[in-house]
Amino acid sequence: MNRFTYASVADTNAAFAELDEHDTPRYIAGGTNLLDLMKVNVEKPDHLIDITHLAFNKIEDTPDGGLRLGALVTNADTAWNEQVEKRYPLLSKAILAGASAQLRNMATNGGNMLQRTRCYYFYDTATPCNKREPGSGCSAINGYNRIHAILGASEDCIATHPSDMAVALAALNAMVNVTGKDGDRSIPFADFHRLPGDRPDLDNTLSAGEIITSIDVPPNGFANHFEYLKVRDRASYAFALVSVAVGLEMDGNIIKEARIALGGVAHKPWRNTEAEGLLTGQVALTENFKKVADAIIQDAKGYGDNTFKIELAKRAIVRALSTAAGLEVQA
Ligand SMILES: Cc1cc2nc3c(=O)[nH]c(=O)nc-3n(C[C@H](O)[C@H](O)[C@H](O)COP(=O)(O)OP(=O)(O)OC[C@H]3O[C@@H](n4cnc5c(N)ncnc54)[C@H](O)[C@@H]3O)c2cc1C
Ligand code: SF4
Repeated sequence: MNRFTYASVADTNAAFAELDEHDTPRYIAGGTNLLDLMKVNVEKPDHLIDITHLAFNKIEDTPDGGLRLGALVTNADTAWNEQVEKRYPLLSKAILAGASAQLRNMATNGGNMLQRTRCYYFYDTATPCNKREPGSGCSAINGYNRIHAILGASEDCIATHPSDMAVALAALNAMVNVTGKDGDRSIPFADFHRLPGDRPDLDNTLSAGEIITSIDVPPNGFANHFEYLKVRDRASYAFALVSVAVGLEMDGNIIKEARIALGGVAHKPWRNTEAEGLLTGQVALTENFKKVADAIIQDAKGYGDNTFKIELAKRAIVRALSTAAGLEVQA
């Protein structure tokens, strides 16, 4: 690990001022991802700016009937918040499927969204990796790629985004509020994370130095018909091979609206709104769920070790939709 200095800031102006005084500064929140990356020399900040004392630490109602989740609220406090549990149980379930109780006590909502990929080669500085060192190559495409992407990948990077929380936020059509030297702005969740293209070093659309202040979830939390299904190698403390966040709006057994977001399959939480639309007005039946699963996965591509994810994702979508709709699910 390199030598670095540290400062704790009380407001965003102080944070921006700290940025100007250092070559490679980084914000630190819970530190559960950043410190791991520093230990293996993937991140080499010369200065850490501790943002945990900024005022973005509340969960509160928004005027439109939604909920604003402070970026510095921990994952644990978010998942167990009474309003989140009641109105957005999909989000609670997704967060609680991630990491461990100790990690969730430290991890913050902003940090969770900004955690980096778990691609083995990204962590191994002895191997080429375009995300870590642009232009060096991708070791995963022709290497061991069991955990890698099947959708939206590029020839430069086939990494996945590892967050569980982000998959639920994608399904809920959340909005990400950020602030920077040029002022405040809000980014629709679908536009927050990027596909790799020819710039896999960029995970998201934040501008340099911008701070996530909060995440807004709209009024409809799909609390009556939802599921977060996470398929992984171990029952806990493991990242998703494939995960599915589902929210259904139903009238009897007719689907009025369907939201389906996938994790573990792409560089960002994956939505296919056209395919979701196939369920509008349809009866909640397994055969209809299979059709939409086929449509979501139709452009998927396997790279060898991860090709099993194509069939796994289809089955996980059908299962999550069935659970959300209250259909009997086969073991
Ligand atoms: C063993 C292990 C298992 C895990 N398993 C899972 C899992 O199954 N599912 C899952 O979803 N996650 C999992 N995680 C990841 C964990 O959820 C993340 O490490 C955590 O959410 C990151 O939050 P943090 O506050 O600690 O971020 P930090 O490590 O402090 O920061 C991460 C990045 O975000 C930046 N940052 C943080 N907050 C802000 C902000 N408000 N504005 C701008 N930049 C910011 C930092 O500069 C840094 O680049 C696991 C982690 C570990 C170590
Ligand atoms: S998949 Fe992406 S993160 Fe992994 S080695 Fe290739 S470029 Fe690096």
